Order: sequence, then C-alpha cells, then structure tokens
Amino acid sequence: MVKLSFMGGCHRVGGNAVLVKSDQANLLLEYGVKPGTPPDFPGHVRAKDVDGIVIGHAHLDHSGGVPLFYLSEKKPYFATRATSELTKILVKDMIKLNSYYLPFEYLELDKMQECRNDIGYGQEVKMKDIEFSLMDAGHIPGSGMVDISVNGKKILYTSDFNTIPTRICNNARLPKKKYDAVIIESTYAMHEHPERKQLEEEFLREIKAINNNGGKVLIPAFAVGRSHEMISILHAHRFEGYVLLDGMARAVNEVMLSDPDAVKTPQTYSKSMAGIHEIRGWRDRRQALRKADVIVAPSGMLQGGTAMFYMEKLALGSENGVFLVSFQVPGTGGARLLETGLFPIREKEEKVAAKVKHFDFSSHSGKTPLQQFLRGLKGKPDVYVVHGEEESCDFLAEWVRDELDMKGVAPNQGEEFTV
Ligand SMILES: [Zn+2]
Ligand SMILES: [Zn+2]
Repeated sequence: MVKLSFMGGCHRVGGNAVLVKSDQANLLLEYGVKPGTPPDFPGHVRAKDVDGIVIGHAHLDHSGGVPLFYLSEKKPYFATRATSELTKILVKDMIKLNSYYLPFEYLELDKMQECRNDIGYGQEVKMKDIEFSLMDAGHIPGSGMVDISVNGKKILYTSDFNTIPTRICNNARLPKKKYDAVIIESTYAMHEHPERKQLEEEFLREIKAINNNGGKVLIPAFAVGRSHEMISILHAHRFEGYVLLDGMARAVNEVMLSDPDAVKTPQTYSKSMAGIHEIRGWRDRRQALRKADVIVAPSGMLQGGTAMFYMEKLALGSENGVFLVSFQVPGTGGARLLETGLFPIREKEEKVAAKVKHFDFSSHSGKTPLQQFLRGLKGKPDVYVVHGEEESCDFLAEWVRDELDMKGVAPNQGEEFTV
C-alpha cells in the first residue's frame, strides 16, 4: 500500500509538501514555506513520523520549512550538492530577515547540514521499502524531479521543472518509465511563454534604448538562478554596459563555480561573471549606482531586498526602466506595480515614472510544454496537480481528465490518496 498525503502547495504557489507513506517508511517530498510575514508553513508533519526528506530544489517554497525537522530529531535529507548549498544560503537569509516569526534558528539549520546527503542525478537511494533518485528538472541549478519506486508502484514528483533549455540550465527530459502516479507543478498551466530567442532580443533592445537615453535599468531578480541567468543573457548578447549584481550573488556564485553539475556550461558562465561588478556593501552600492547601466538585484517580486533601495533611487526618473523578469505572485510589490503603476517610495505610494515592463523569462514549463509532458508519460498515471494558483491547478487537472482520459486531481491540503 502506498499513500500520498498532500500537506502543502495545494491550489497555490508556496509551501510545497507531500508525504509518501509506504508499509515501512514515510518519505517527505519537500517542505517549503510561503514567504511572507509571518512565513506560512505546510500542514504539520511530526518529525518522528518521517524517515527521510528529499528537496527537489533550493527555492524556499520547496526547502524553507525543512529545518523544522531538526528541532528534536535528526532525519536524513537528500538533495543534489548544489541544492544543499543553495538551500543553506537561502534559509540562512530567511532566518536573518524573519527570525522573530520562525519556529527555528541557525542551530536547526546547522543540525540539518549534519544530516545532509548529497546525491547526483540518477544515483539510487534506498530507504527501507522506498527507492528514489533525482533527474535533472531544468528549473534552477541543482534542481531535480524525484523518481520513486515503492511496493511495485512508480511515482514521479516533478517539483518545479522546465522542458525548455535556458542559458544556465539543461532542460528536463521526459522520463521513459511507466508511472502509476505523477505529482506535477502547474504554475503556468494556463499561460504560454514567448519564444526565448525573440524575448532575449527584445529585452536587450529595450535595455539599450533606455541606456542610450541616459537611463538605468533595474532588473529585480531572485538571487538564485534568475539573476545569474540575466547576467548570462547580457553576456551572450555582448552587452557592453556597466552591470551591477547585488544580493547574495557572491555566495551563490561560489556554489555555481565549484560544482560542475550546477550550471550547463561552467566556462561560459564564469566568463559572463568576469566583467560584472558585485556589490560589497552599502558604500559600494551608493557609489557603483552612479556608474551603472543595468542593476540586477533581489527580490524578484519587489518584496524587500536591495531592489527596494534601487527602486527608491530610480523609480521616479522617467528616463529609467524597471524590468521584471520573474513570476509575480498576486499581492506582491511587483504584481501591484504591474497592475497599478504605483509603488511605495519612502512609505508613500508613488506613481512610478520609470518604464515598467514584464519579460516572461520563466524557469517553469508553460502551458503547451506541461501538456506535452503529461501526454508523453507512459502508463496512464493518476495525475495530482499542485504548485499553481487555484484556477491553474483546477485547469490542468480537468485537462488531464478531458484530454487524456486519466485521473486528474487538484488536491486540497490534508487530502490523502492511495496509489
Ligand atoms: Zn522553484
Ligand atoms: Zn516553486
């Protein structure tokens, strides 16, 4: 008997968590948070009821709650080396910013590190009657989909995945196995992404137009993956302007450069970083801004981070640009800016004069690639749709039922299904 217990990321983006229960063991697939004040955790899972945890990738909506399992227990967790290193950086930063609201501290993060098991793609792990391995998910450096075998049943957990290659990641491939159940993300189940080459060209054109008019472009981007991808795109198009990279870039960079599995082409990547000015502190930030043509800074949704400082300096100048390049969760500063053109500057809601644009550089599969992926799966698996806004989860589950004639469910938090 195998059961899937959906603990989080149900009908929403944030706090992914699924518990796989077999006769002998319980394997927890991720335990993320929904960032915010306070951060929101998935349903409660007792640490002593868990035999091990797998983290698909480092984003906090997949990894941020894992330290909870180290308050009184020491459970092994499994991830690629890059995921473990990046998770450490991101969770540390979350504790720094939110410690008042969190039920754990640096101590739990340290204990978690003692229990880490780095696994490469394709490396089999056996935990009592459950076997699992990771496959490249193409989402961010180190990201993996989890392939699970238990009691003769085969389960695929996609975490976040992308079937289109990007400048820094290889694409996720369609697995050849027959599955009994698939748990899939649906961030962009209702949305097609533009063709990447054209998007990159338009992006460069718009940046140059602003620079040529004496303006600066702020690119709010998440510190892991997205900012480095933006730098790689500028490099690939031989952008010659002065580029600032802010945030946890340096620490993240070290991980990427020290782990050949983390980025697709390490040499090109390190070349792309060579001409970039990495911010070293507040004084440097103020000085470097004067020279900058392009500033890449977190957070990607304009929810805190040093992008707020740059917004204050640039948003009211009509010669400047603010180019959003990530998914903007409804309610975030970035989403509100796109909808209303307004942004709080020095605690006052202001009309932003800079050119605001959204470039759809996604690291998630879009509508057609998601459908092609599901269509290509062998074995007519039951499909469980998570990690999307309410309508996206329901839309993809319905599509599975109508188009593929398979079981398609968008589970609610707390629901349990037998495979
Ligand atoms: Zn992600
Ligand atoms: Zn995610």
